Amino acid sequence: MATEAPVLLWFRRDLRLADHSALAAALATGRPVVPVFILDEALEGRAPGGASLWWLDKSLRRLGESIAARGGRLILRRGPAERVLRDLANETGADRIFLSRLFEPVAAARDRDLAHALKAEGVEVKGYNGTLLTPPGTVRTGSGGPYKVFTPFLRALLAATTPPPTLPDSAGATFAGAGVASDDLERWGLHPTAPDWSGGFDWTPGEAGALEALRRFTAGPLADYARLRDLPGKAGTSRLSPHLHWGEISPWRAVQAAREAGEAGKVSAAKADKFIAEIGWREFSAHLLAEFPHITAEAFRPEYDAMPWREDPAGLRAWQKGQTGYPVVDAGMRQLWATGWMHNRVRMIVASFLVKHLLIDWRHGEAWFHDTLVDADTAANVQNWQWVAGSGADAAPYFRIFNPITQGQKFDPDGRYVRRWVPELARLGDRWLHAPWTAPPEVLRDAGVRLGSSYPRPIVEHEIGRKRALEALKTIGETRAAGQDA
Ligand code: FAD
Repeated sequence: MATEAPVLLWFRRDLRLADHSALAAALATGRPVVPVFILDEALEGRAPGGASLWWLDKSLRRLGESIAARGGRLILRRGPAERVLRDLANETGADRIFLSRLFEPVAAARDRDLAHALKAEGVEVKGYNGTLLTPPGTVRTGSGGPYKVFTPFLRALLAATTPPPTLPDSAGATFAGAGVASDDLERWGLHPTAPDWSGGFDWTPGEAGALEALRRFTAGPLADYARLRDLPGKAGTSRLSPHLHWGEISPWRAVQAAREAGEAGKVSAAKADKFIAEIGWREFSAHLLAEFPHITAEAFRPEYDAMPWREDPAGLRAWQKGQTGYPVVDAGMRQLWATGWMHNRVRMIVASFLVKHLLIDWRHGEAWFHDTLVDADTAANVQNWQWVAGSGADAAPYFRIFNPITQGQKFDPDGRYVRRWVPELARLGDRWLHAPWTAPPEVLRDAGVRLGSSYPRPIVEHEIGRKRALEALKTIGETRAAGQDA
């Protein structure tokens, strides 16, 4: 350990070394930087899901390797963050802690309390923005309030923010920490065992994997993003979501890469803008949660809390396992289980099926996604579930009910997606694939499909589910015009 007192860099959801303001500030002190990650289940008010822990395990390994290559050691500790930081400050003599701020209300409040308590003991906590384009509270309507509608929010966001200055390359950074006690990542047991359900997780967590995903996307799919992004059978999106969630890449880096591709004439500016708008949705979600903390548990539009949700454990289970009898819904739920990710179009279809056809509370769906998505992110997850359920800010109206048959036909017209994830239907022709129960018996027989045994019959008829959902809507006194199918 160097004799000079070090500073601590507390990594959380900023698991990278590039474009890292807190790291740059820590290095600028000229003191040795001791990097630390704390496994604190209470960190964000809820325990991370299994798929998130799978990711974290690998991402920490990569970060630890990068730090070791720069002569340091990533210190791993487990327990309540405040206590661990106090211990570390005492052990190392550090009097400053640098971090990237988190904006979920629970995490932000906890950080404030912790900073207050440590300050009283002579340890200063210094927070930087490293996870969003701009911190919540910086984009305001003309009357000074938060935006509740996406399009004006995006316009204001893009007008009000500029990329942060390029930070000094951290490649030359030197880290300390060699003499500080650390847990062994292996012993945290973040990778699943008994059973290990992650065999189909085809991801490369870590900063290098994030940069490679961005490079691949901007060199290829970005050019046709507006069209491809809705087709789950094509690799038309960036798959950056888990990397962004864990901060292995900064959102500014993704935005700048899209802009540069547009400026270099590699893609049209409109295509680049479409992608930037999706990063804008990520931002909108985070800003909304920061402004309206209750939306993790309650509807943004309070009348929706009176929705007569059904208790239907068997229906919920069938949905979770991809056994609803609707091929595109089942394909999505199985893709989620097998890979920890689901295509956005299909997320909307499966979520709509749960809250409308099954009339099951969106909170059950949000919890399942939280556990199974590698990109599980409370702000994005809650905002999107409430969007589908009609109860959110700028939400899709509840009465617009996705038809899982026509959605499948429209967005998976050649059946590539369904055939991949529901192989028991692979030999069924395109004409019947999205509604196998409508196929004549000889067609089913020739395709090897036995409805009710090799593949389920629909657990609820589309028309019955649809009508029941619209009836439920009437009971909460929703006044917007009802009756459209999407
Ligand atoms: P791209 O199309 O390449 O988009 C680029 C980035 O923009 C994404 O990586 C993501 O960070 C952001 N983004 C795109 N769409 C949205 C959106 N609708 N809302 C917020 N950010 C968006 N995304 C999560 O990151 N975590 C979640 O927990 C999550 N839960 C969702 C739940 C439901 C019911 C729905 C309908 C969507 C959810 N999304 C969530 C949003 C979206 O499905 C994913 O961000 C996207 O599919 C990730 O794939 P990608 O990186 O290839 O996206």
